[in-house]
Amino acid sequence: MKTSNRSNENLIFKTADIDGKIYIREQKGYFQRIRRVLSYFLIILFVTVPFIKYKGAQAVYFDIALQKINVFSFTLFPHDLVIFSLVFIFFAFLLFYITKIYGRVWCGFTCPQTIWMLIFNWVERRIEGAHNHSKALDKQPLTFEKFVKKTVKHAIWLGISLITALVFISYFVPVDQLYLSFFTLKASSLVIYWVLFFTLCTYVNAGWIREKMCLHMCPYARFQSAMFDNGTKLVSYDQFRGENRGKRKISQEKKEGLGDCVDCNLCVQVCPVGIDIRNGLQYECISCGLCVDACDMTMEKFNYQKGLISFKKSNNTIVSWKKHIAYGTCVSLSLLAMLIWGLNWQNFNVNIIRDRQALYNINQTGNIENTYLFKIRNKSNQVKYYHIQVEGLDNANIVSHAKIKVLPGELNVSAINVEVDKPLAKKRSDIYFYIAEVGDDNYMAKKTSFYSGEGSW
Ligand code: SF4
Ligand code: SF4
Repeated sequence: MKTSNRSNENLIFKTADIDGKIYIREQKGYFQRIRRVLSYFLIILFVTVPFIKYKGAQAVYFDIALQKINVFSFTLFPHDLVIFSLVFIFFAFLLFYITKIYGRVWCGFTCPQTIWMLIFNWVERRIEGAHNHSKALDKQPLTFEKFVKKTVKHAIWLGISLITALVFISYFVPVDQLYLSFFTLKASSLVIYWVLFFTLCTYVNAGWIREKMCLHMCPYARFQSAMFDNGTKLVSYDQFRGENRGKRKISQEKKEGLGDCVDCNLCVQVCPVGIDIRNGLQYECISCGLCVDACDMTMEKFNYQKGLISFKKSNNTIVSWKKHIAYGTCVSLSLLAMLIWGLNWQNFNVNIIRDRQALYNINQTGNIENTYLFKIRNKSNQVKYYHIQVEGLDNANIVSHAKIKVLPGELNVSAINVEVDKPLAKKRSDIYFYIAEVGDDNYMAKKTSFYSGEGSW
C-alpha cells in the first residue's frame, strides 16, 4: 500500500482563511447538476405551495389562532396530530435508511442549510469574483470598490433572506394579505417581528455561520456516523491509486513512483466544509460530491481514469441484508400506519356528553327522556349538514332536531333529546348514535347509555 509523503503540507492550500472563513470555489459537474435540479425543485415547491388555492382557500395553511392545519381537503385539529408523529417517524426511518446506504446525502443535496449556503456563495462569487479574488478582497484595506461590492453583496443576501422569511411566514399568515400588508407597513407588529426575525436568521445562518452549523450545531451530523457501516457508500479518496501525489504538467509523462493525484488541490478548494478528503473519512464531510466533480475534471484533463475520488463502499463484498430488512420494514410499517390512518380519517369528529344535570326527565308527553350534548367538529372547508340516528332501543326516538348545520372548521354544540315511550326493563341501557354527513352513507357510530331510573315509571 502506497502512503502519502505529503502529510499535512496540503494545509497551506486550504481555502479557509486565518479567521476561519471558507472561500468556496465554484464547481460544475455531475453531482453539482443533481444538486441544482433538486434545489430548484425544492425551492420552487417551498415558494409556490402557499400560493396554491383549493376551493377558494389557501391549500396549505397553518392557522395557529384556531389551532388547525389545512392541507387541501384535510383540516387537521390537535386530536389529528397523530398523523404528524407518523409522518415524522416515516421520514426519520427513510432518512436513516438512505444514510445507511449513501451516507450524508441529505446534508449534501437537500438540506436547506446547504442549499441556502450555496445560493449565498453563488451571489458572493458573482459580485466578488472567484474564491481567491474574494479572499484577496477581504485582505485589502477598505476602498470604495470594496465598500460597493460588500454593500451590494450584503443587500442581495438580505433581500434573499427577506424573501425566504416572507415565504416561510406565508404558511402561517394568509398569503393574500401578507405581502401587501407587509410592504405597505400595515401588517401587525407580530407579523413584522417574525418576518424580520426569520430574515435575520437566514442572513446570519447562510451568510455568516454557514458550514459551522453543519460542523458544530446540527444534531443529525452528530449521530449519523452511527448508521454507517462498511456497506455505506461514502465519498472517499482512492489512496492506493492517488499516492504518491505530486504536481505535474498535463503534457508531462507521469514520473516513476507518482500516483494519479496531481495535487491540484481542487478537491479542497471546492469543499464547502473546508476539509481535505485525501486525509480519509472525516465527520465534517456532508457527502455533497463537489470534490468528486472537481477531481473527475482534473482526471479528464490529464487523461486519467475518473473516480480517484468517488462515492464507494469501503467493502464491496458486504451486503448487510439484515439492516436492509430492518430499515425496509420500519419504513414500510410507518407508511402502512399512515395509510391506515388516512383511510379511517373522517372530515368530522363527534363527542357525545350526557347531560350532567339529570340522569333522565319525564317530558310533557309522559315519556322518559335523556339529553345528550353533541360536539360536532366540521373539519372541512365547506358548510356541512349532519344527521343523527339512534339505535339500540326499539322504542327510542330523537325528540329534537336530528339534522345539524356546522360551519367550516366550527365546533358545534347541540343538545339532542331522546325519548322512550315504553317502560324499560333495565335502569341503564346501551344506546347507539349514528352520525353522518347528509347525502353520505359513511356513518360514525358512538355508543353511550340511556337511563330510565328505577321504579320511576
Ligand atoms: S469532502 Fe467532498 S463530499 Fe465531503 S463535504 Fe467536502 S466536497 Fe463535499
Ligand atoms: S482534485 Fe484529485 S487530483 Fe486534485 S488534489 Fe484532489 S485528489 Fe488530487
